[in-house]
Order: sequence, then C-alpha cells, then structure tokens
Amino acid sequence: MADAPASQALFDRALAVIPGGVNSPVRAFRSVGGTPRFMVSGTGPRITDADGREYVDLVGSWGPMILGHAHPDVRAAVDTAVSRGLSFGTPGEGEVALAEEIVRRVDPVERVRLVSSGTEATMSAMRLARGFTGRSKVVKFAGCYHGHVDALLASAGSGIATFALPDSAGVTAATTAEVIVLPYNDLDAVRAAFAAHPGEIAAVITEAAAANMGVVPPLPGFNAGLAEITHADGALLITDEVMTGFRASRAGMWGLDGAQEGWRPDLMTFGKVIGGGLPVGAFGGRADIMAHLAPEGPVYQAGTLSGNPIATAAGLATLRGCTDEIYAHLDATARTVGELVAAALTQAGVPNRLQRAGTLFSVFFTDAAVTDYDLARTQSTAAFAAFFHSMLRDGVYLPPSAFEAWFVSAAHDDAALERIEAALPAAARAAAAVLG
Ligand SMILES: *Cc1c(COP(=O)(O)O)cnc(C)c1O
Repeated sequence: MADAPASQALFDRALAVIPGGVNSPVRAFRSVGGTPRFMVSGTGPRITDADGREYVDLVGSWGPMILGHAHPDVRAAVDTAVSRGLSFGTPGEGEVALAEEIVRRVDPVERVRLVSSGTEATMSAMRLARGFTGRSKVVKFAGCYHGHVDALLASAGSGIATFALPDSAGVTAATTAEVIVLPYNDLDAVRAAFAAHPGEIAAVITEAAAANMGVVPPLPGFNAGLAEITHADGALLITDEVMTGFRASRAGMWGLDGAQEGWRPDLMTFGKVIGGGLPVGAFGGRADIMAHLAPEGPVYQAGTLSGNPIATAAGLATLRGCTDEIYAHLDATARTVGELVAAALTQAGVPNRLQRAGTLFSVFFTDAAVTDYDLARTQSTAAFAAFFHSMLRDGVYLPPSAFEAWFVSAAHDDAALERIEAALPAAARAAAAVLG
C-alpha cells in the first residue's frame, strides 16, 4: 500500500516467514483492512512507525504501557537489572518485591505465583481450581477472553446454558466438554447451570469487567452474585484481571467492585500492567488454595523464566509508578477521550455507545446499551473500520478491531488530546458515510 511503503515491505518479508505476518492475530489488521503498521519506537503517549509517521497511541501494547512508552523510571529499573545478568533460574529478590506489591494492593491475594503470560495465569488458575475442588467442570461467559488456553477458547453458545463447542480448530470437543458457556451478566443462567450440575463445577471464571468484546462492565451485583452462587455450591470464583488489574484502579476492578460490595474472589489472574511491557503474568488468591501448588501441594505448575529479573524489574517499576495521582489522571483522560469520541460520532449522526470500567473504556458503534456478547455484536464493524483508518491517517493509533478496549496512559497530555480531538470530525464523517 502506497500509504505505508516501509511497513508494507516489512509485512511482505514477515508474510514469507511468519503465519499471517504476525505473532498475534489482531495485529494483522484483518478486521479493519490495510497494511499493519510496524512500529519502531515510542516515547510517552506517541509511537513512530517504520515510515517515520508518528501516532498518538491508544493501544499501549494492549495495556502494559500504563505510564507511557519508554518511561524513565522503568528504563532505569530495567537497565540496572540487565547490568546484573538476564536470568538465573533461581529465586531472586525482584520476584519477591513484585509479589509483595501485588499482595499489598489486592486484598484477596494472600499468595501469588508469577508466570510469563496471562494465558499461563488463567490456565494455571483453572488447573489449581480443579485440583483443589476435585471437580472438573468450569463455567465461562461468552465474549470473555482468558488467553488461548484450549478449554477457555470456547465462547460459542448464547442465551441458554449449553455445552461449549470449540472456537478454534485443534481444540477437541473432549476438552471443551467440561466447559459451560453462559451469557455475560446473566445470574439466572449461572443459577441454572449450578442447579443442573450440583457439586460438579470447579470454578466460574469471569473477566472482572469484560473488556475483550469492547468494554462491558458487570451489572451492579453481578460479580457479587457469582461469588455467592459459587460459594454456596463449594465451587471457586476466579476473576481474570489480566487486563483490568492495576488499570481499572489501584487495586484493579476488584478495587471498584468487591472492595466496595464486600465480596471476594478465591483466585485472581493478572498480566499486562504487571510486566510493564515485558512478559509477566500472575495468579494468586486464598493461601489455603495456593498451598495446593507444587512444591507445597499436588498441583504442578512451573516456568523456566517465571519471575525473570528483568521482567519483574519492569513490572515493579511500573506498579510503583502507578500512584493515586496517576489513576486520577488516567480516569480523567479516559473520560475526556471517550466523551470527545462519543460527541464527534453523535454530531455526525453515527450511533454510538461509550462504556467504561474504571479507566478502561471503549466506544461501540451501536445505540444499544451493551451488556453481553450478542449485544456487542450488533455494532457496525464497517463503520468502525472507516473511523479507524481516518484516525490512523490523522495520526491516532486505535485498536484495529471494534471489539477491543482503548487504553490511555499517564503520559497522555493536552497535546495528545488535542491531536485526538482534531482527528475526530473527519473520522466520524467517514463512519457516517459507511452507514449511508
Ligand atoms: C490479554 C488477556 C489474557 C491473555 O494474556 P496473554 O498475556 O496475552 O496471554 C487473558 N485474560 C484477559 C482478560 C486478557 O485481557
């Protein structure tokens, strides 16, 4: 594409050696079309592509860059760690300090184990829940993403409790047969599933606020209801905070929800922000459950690079940088950007719905109040694609899919907001033109 010749040349090379030219599917721009931009550098709220074009970044590596790109404190922490050696495969102080910071912030986490991705975190939490309860079934919600764990890729089925069909080739029906997929925000469906399978369900896993179908916050009382229903049956509640953790608030989504309403998950999963841009995930929760992990207990879980000193240094520096003032800034910035986008779309006559969960937000291209996956899918992805490309042309990098959350950082300043605001009217008109 003439638009981005250097990115296109890199993409052509990539296509010859990497499936689809990318190492994670959404990066390929398939749902918006066009040439994926290959980024070469970033500072603060901005990133620069191979063609030398600069963008205000509203992806932030899908969450980790909460302080902005190349933050001086994070770079200094990483540089210091690098100078001491990259990995030892032994325990080290950095991993202890990161675990302490997580435990300090999130009350239900009494013990935590570090892994290298969010996928590993949810996979391990599910294994632990099954090992602890001696039960095999797991409930998940349609539209919730928990990484590419075989069993949790199932998201098919809506409306009624149903045994899941695999969402990906290569995931066997036997694997997903133990997974019950229910509509998000539907406690009656959860009650019905427990009534149909008493004493068989190991855990309910849910995003603490759904943010992988666009942002769909839990309805008031939904997460509390999950805690009540699971506990009444002797099952566990796993809240996946890989995206919301240390992003939605200082204590993640739980800080805005459970901490206020007085319920607790049994296990939680983390990723993204806790690595500050390096590969870190974590799962943690009740000490008596976590004690079932090897070497204390019979549930095996391990990792060659788990607790890696460079990754934990980046994560710790990032978390330490996430002060109350930073969360206030993120909150205000998310509100401003979301409202600017919604206003521009409304002005151009484009149906839109701004939804938030703490400092996370997204804008659906529909009028509907989106409470579940079926409603999320009523939006116009074609209108989003036109909006996306107009923003891109005018120097704003949005998530290249209508079903992703948008991410601001502590570094998004007035200049960044002005650039976004300036790009919006043309993008809103482009979306309107698609809708005719
Ligand atoms: C990103 C994400 C994951 C997967 O994390 P990876 O590090 O990509 O494996 C799991 N759960 C949620 C809620 C996520 O947003």
